[in-house]
Amino acid sequence: MKKYTSLTEIQGELAQKQLTLKELIAYYFKQIEQHQHLNAFNEVFFDSATKQAEEIQAKLENGSAGKLAGMVIGIKDNICYEGHVVTASSKMLENFVSPYSSTVVKRLLAEDAIIIGRLNCDEFAMGGSNETSYFGPVKNAADEERVAGGSSGGSAVAVQADMCLAALGTDTGGSVRQPAAFCGNIGFKPTYGRISRYGVIAYASSFDQVGTITSSVADAALLLEVLAGADENDSTVSQLPVPSYSSHLPPHAKRQTPNACKIAVLKETIESDALDPETKEAILVAIEKFKQDGHEVTEVSFDLLEYLVPTYYILTTAEASSNLSRYDGVHYGYRNTQAQSLNQLYKSSRAEGFGEEVKRRIMLGAFVLSAGYYDAYYQKAQKVRRLIRERIEELLKNHDVLVSPVAPTPAFKIGENVQDPLVMYMADIYTVLASLAGIPAVALPLGNNKAGLPLSIQLMTKHFNEQALLSLSHSFLEKA
Ligand code: GLN
Repeated sequence: MKKYTSLTEIQGELAQKQLTLKELIAYYFKQIEQHQHLNAFNEVFFDSATKQAEEIQAKLENGSAGKLAGMVIGIKDNICYEGHVVTASSKMLENFVSPYSSTVVKRLLAEDAIIIGRLNCDEFAMGGSNETSYFGPVKNAADEERVAGGSSGGSAVAVQADMCLAALGTDTGGSVRQPAAFCGNIGFKPTYGRISRYGVIAYASSFDQVGTITSSVADAALLLEVLAGADENDSTVSQLPVPSYSSHLPPHAKRQTPNACKIAVLKETIESDALDPETKEAILVAIEKFKQDGHEVTEVSFDLLEYLVPTYYILTTAEASSNLSRYDGVHYGYRNTQAQSLNQLYKSSRAEGFGEEVKRRIMLGAFVLSAGYYDAYYQKAQKVRRLIRERIEELLKNHDVLVSPVAPTPAFKIGENVQDPLVMYMADIYTVLASLAGIPAVALPLGNNKAGLPLSIQLMTKHFNEQALLSLSHSFLEKA
């Protein structure tokens, strides 16, 4: 079977009876088996996915199938699915079975997507290389000595190596966009509050957002319209109506450009010495292409770049230290059974259940929130976040789309940066901007460098303007 790159293709073959869901799911199971060494899946849901394939096939035959019928999707292992294990790739939750489904899973199932398994990620989504996972790193299929990116590394590699059509990830500071960039996929992070976080294991609640990793913009649009929208279980989700994103994409056949956009390139992000030269070159070529397509491209200055990473890490570690306090060995999760006192039970359960990076962040978060340091760090970072957001909103008053790299380099070697947390954190510089501002952003593939590693560009837009981002991305890739 060939690689399918969009649901439209699969649905076409299903409708023509050239394909059955049984065949499709068998194909993906085989792909997963053949790529086991990449370590993308923490678990394959053989039984529930096979059962779903049978049920949805029957619905296809009687004309009652939902709009995602034929979509075989993997979910990051921090998204709850009733009756299935969910671990956040942590020893802390190694055998934890979710008693309920997240809103995103419910919405996928309601439209007849087949959930094929749960995907490896950095522990509690903290990391940018998938190396903090208790279950080991995920390997990049473009070069198996290199990282998949993170934290949704399993999601990116599962799509890259054709183990499922699409995957859900979560993006707190780049975890959908950066692994997608490292693996040559499309990584889409909607506006904060566009998609419900109910049933998604919390890392930093004022940043966390579910996003998609796909091979086509059409699939990203379709998934977004299924997943987005108000939810009584998450009051931070916007009440704004959900547009029919997929039906508003510019038609393929006409190779038509959506209305000319005002595109602003964030100058300091491109001129930075830290940016890999081949990445820069590919982005400059893409910018030329935007111009040729009739868009107006200008350069703008964004001089708050150096504040992004510190602000992000102060606020997210503070939120994480609070969110992760629930894993105490008493309520649920890993428990040390030798402890002689309650205090000892808390201490040893948390010391043994969490990995190094998670502990580092809990400590950092507890520090910035502690009496005496709260004003100097946490409160100050809140103020800087507001300034960043205001500056971005100002730029987006005069421009439709902002452009920057996704990451300073293509996928690096496994083990290369792991000893130095600061190097790792600095690599998030371009993705945390959209997360701090809460705006939608997408990572789009730009082909490979000379060594065969995927390159990528990032586009961002105003809050809740996902449609513009999807339309521009669609026509851009169509003409690639
Ligand atoms: N690399 C970033 C971090 O470690 C982003 C993670 C994420 O988006 N979940 O926090």
